[in-house]
Amino acid sequence: MSVNQRYDVIVAGVGGMGSAACAALARRGKRVLGLERFDIPHAMGSSHGVNRIIRLAYYEDPSYVPLLRRSYELWRELETGFSEQLLFITGSIDASDRDVELVRDSLKSCEIHNLPHEILTSTQLRERFPAYHLPENHLALFQPDGGFLASERCIVANVVTAFEAGAQIHAREVVQSWQTTANGVRVETDLGFYEAEQLVISAGAWAGKLVPELATLAKPERQVLAWLQPDQPELFCPDRFPVFNLTVEEGRYYGFPIYSVPGFKVGRYHHLGEEVDPDEIEREPNAADEGVLREFAGRYFPGSNGPTMALKACMFTNSPDEHFIIDRHPAAPNVLLVSPCSGHGFKFCSVIGEIVADLAITGATRHDISLFKLSRFASTTSLFAASH
Ligand SMILES: Cc1cc2nc3c(=O)[nH]c(=O)nc-3n(C[C@H](O)[C@H](O)[C@H](O)COP(=O)(O)OP(=O)(O)OC[C@H]3O[C@@H](n4cnc5c(N)ncnc54)[C@H](O)[C@@H]3O)c2cc1C
Repeated sequence: MSVNQRYDVIVAGVGGMGSAACAALARRGKRVLGLERFDIPHAMGSSHGVNRIIRLAYYEDPSYVPLLRRSYELWRELETGFSEQLLFITGSIDASDRDVELVRDSLKSCEIHNLPHEILTSTQLRERFPAYHLPENHLALFQPDGGFLASERCIVANVVTAFEAGAQIHAREVVQSWQTTANGVRVETDLGFYEAEQLVISAGAWAGKLVPELATLAKPERQVLAWLQPDQPELFCPDRFPVFNLTVEEGRYYGFPIYSVPGFKVGRYHHLGEEVDPDEIEREPNAADEGVLREFAGRYFPGSNGPTMALKACMFTNSPDEHFIIDRHPAAPNVLLVSPCSGHGFKFCSVIGEIVADLAITGATRHDISLFKLSRFASTTSLFAASH
């Protein structure tokens, strides 16, 4: 068995997180190899479908806000170096029935972190942003720094940045297995063997395939996105339509202004509740998928559910508490696990890249990542006990 080459760090999976990790590591002088099973970028994982919401008001937990502030800085740095706009500010709306957590928790994060915000009734919301037609009992929190990232272009920008800093990235090369060695890690792909001091596993929905112990903690779930042509597209332009997270009686939905595809983009969290194997997911959206999104659009954004412009299937990778997992492999400390991000991770890729580089280079990071430790799950000890 001959080893093709030795690196400081190998990154398995060059999607959202992996591309940011490759760029951050290479810019800090590490010899990096990124291995990606599909193309750069591709539409088989979790980061495709043109764009992703970024917002500071964080109902998921206020402790994400400092990470978000650094994410914004790093996305701005990336787009400056890449000479292409990647981050678009539209403002963000978090809205729900006044008694439902979404607005309450979003407000809490604004108050704790002194974020500028306004609370609007549904009538005030419609006066300001006429496409929104929410029920009378709903409140909306508007936070002016929200917007979206051109996610597929962010991956390209990170890969180009990584190349420029000397990284090697191989697309269409599948990591098949890895094992620790006396002085690092050996990785086997369908094309050869590589060695490195450290391995970053950022395989998204495939995390449980490369680290079987993660299979019960990182569950892929099928999602579908729709782009629908509104009859008044001018109401859905980025300057008149903030991105949103909205809890209504049908569930929790999110949406975007028209950008790149000529349609209003909408999705539903945990779409139809379908846990999937990432190698066997039904990638072709069907009428039931479309119906759920079209019904929501027609009810709360009247006139938005015209002809379909595009439909795409994608995957969340959910942890049991929907917080991230960023930690060392308990039985293999030179292996960093950087996934899953439970449907809200893209906006953090830039800071997670920095965190990976910190951990790989100095063994510590100034960012507070205590929320993402594996040890918070009672099953961790038994799951990882016998491995490697
Ligand atoms: C429909 C949808 C909407 C979302 N909306 C938002 C949003 O608005 N805002 C937000 O912040 N987040 C959002 N998210 C979540 C966010 O997109 C994900 O958290 C993020 O994209 C995950 O990045 P990742 O790098 O973990 O996964 P990916 O980008 O999928 O990267 C994993 C990579 O690993 C590769 N890989 C896997 N196995 C191997 C192997 N054996 N060998 C080589 N390569 C391998 C895969 O091919 C893939 O490229 C959304 C997700 C979905 C699906």
